[in-house]
Amino acid sequence: MTAVVGTPRVVLASNNAKKLAELRRILQPLVPGIEVLGLADFPAYDEPAETEPTFEGNALIKARACLAVTGLPSLADDSGLCVDALGGMPGVLSARWSGVPKAEGGDAANNRLLLSQLSDVPPERRTAQFRCVMALCIPGGREIVQAGEMTGRILAAEHGGGGFGYDPLFAADGYDVSTAELPPAEKDRISHRGRALTAMAPVIVEAMR
Ligand code: IMP
Repeated sequence: MTAVVGTPRVVLASNNAKKLAELRRILQPLVPGIEVLGLADFPAYDEPAETEPTFEGNALIKARACLAVTGLPSLADDSGLCVDALGGMPGVLSARWSGVPKAEGGDAANNRLLLSQLSDVPPERRTAQFRCVMALCIPGGREIVQAGEMTGRILAAEHGGGGFGYDPLFAADGYDVSTAELPPAEKDRISHRGRALTAMAPVIVEAMR
């Protein structure tokens, strides 16, 4: 890792390479020169369990743990899919909805389970939202939280090979294709994470001063 004195740096408290790439794509144009690090750039530590019932609570748990280990401004997101016909679930349980670990095909199992749970739900009642809360924890104790949302609907089958997680099953309002079929820059523009990050960017700029 090349350390340039004065380079603004922020750590994303995640090992997810796709989330890190997405964060870099969104943040670098907004905060020119920023170096966005991931947990892979630091010695491994035991990541805290996401024990809170809210996205905000879990994002703060992750950002605080990252700041404690790295000493650098730490950003964490907690996000998920809230399906109206399921009373807002899977919500904070999105990543582990099927109980199958990610490394063993958890995303595919989650999508199969969601499709089966909605099998008798008609199109007009398949409304859903992706939600994201970003937490930034800055050395000295300041903590800032920003939220973003993308509304849409759950499709009847998977479409597209881009994105991750539930993207093949989700079409955003105003789109006929799934978010797995959108060019990455287009998804960033409308996504829950893109919106939360866009709101967070000025705070990051100010924190870097
Ligand atoms: P987190 O990593 O704890 O925030 O868990 C987020 C989970 O929500 C992911 O594992 C996905 O299942 C789902 N999710 C969040 N954002 C997205 C997205 O943009 N596309 C597809 N699935 C998402």
